[in-house]
Amino acid sequence: MKYPLAFERLVSCFNRFQGIGRKTSERLVFDMLSRWDSEAIEEFSHALSGLRQGVMTCPECRTHIETLPCPFCSDERKNAKLLCVVASSKDVYAIDTTNLFPGTFYVLGSLLSPLDERGVDSMDMPLLKKRVHSGIEEVIFALDSSLEGDATAAYLRNELAPLSLKMSRLATGVPVGTSLDFVDRGTLSRALSGRYQL
Ligand SMILES: [Zn+2]
Repeated sequence: MKYPLAFERLVSCFNRFQGIGRKTSERLVFDMLSRWDSEAIEEFSHALSGLRQGVMTCPECRTHIETLPCPFCSDERKNAKLLCVVASSKDVYAIDTTNLFPGTFYVLGSLLSPLDERGVDSMDMPLLKKRVHSGIEEVIFALDSSLEGDATAAYLRNELAPLSLKMSRLATGVPVGTSLDFVDRGTLSRALSGRYQL
């Protein structure tokens, strides 16, 4: 027997999340139907439809923010000569909460696939280079300790090499194969202060 169409539609939506398979998606929808009242379902639907209007991307650092001016780019206490390059907005928020990084950010959007350099387009290299040209003296790559993170750091180092910058990468404390968002605050703090030059 097939599931009702409306059920099936929602299952397909959940199934789009990375790491959420078909079975988990079905479980989520069953859970919603059996435990959520209509008010909770309404709230969920409102939260979803408000996501696009309520979240924008900063045209300079590409972090997901609520409104312009961007709180990360417009903070005058930040050192505008220091740029931290991260894979996603989530990393910007994680690093910012440590209060240990005094500079500005750039979000790549994705990491490079080491085999075919897929992902270069989504990084918007022209924008990154423009940022770097606007007075940046040091770039820190805060990328995952993974094949993709290594490939991305190597690619960016080559691309930015002609600009004679100081370039460094987080290393100490971030275990190999670990995504930045699973790293606790203390580890991230140590990694930020223990970065090594490229
Ligand atoms: Zn910004």
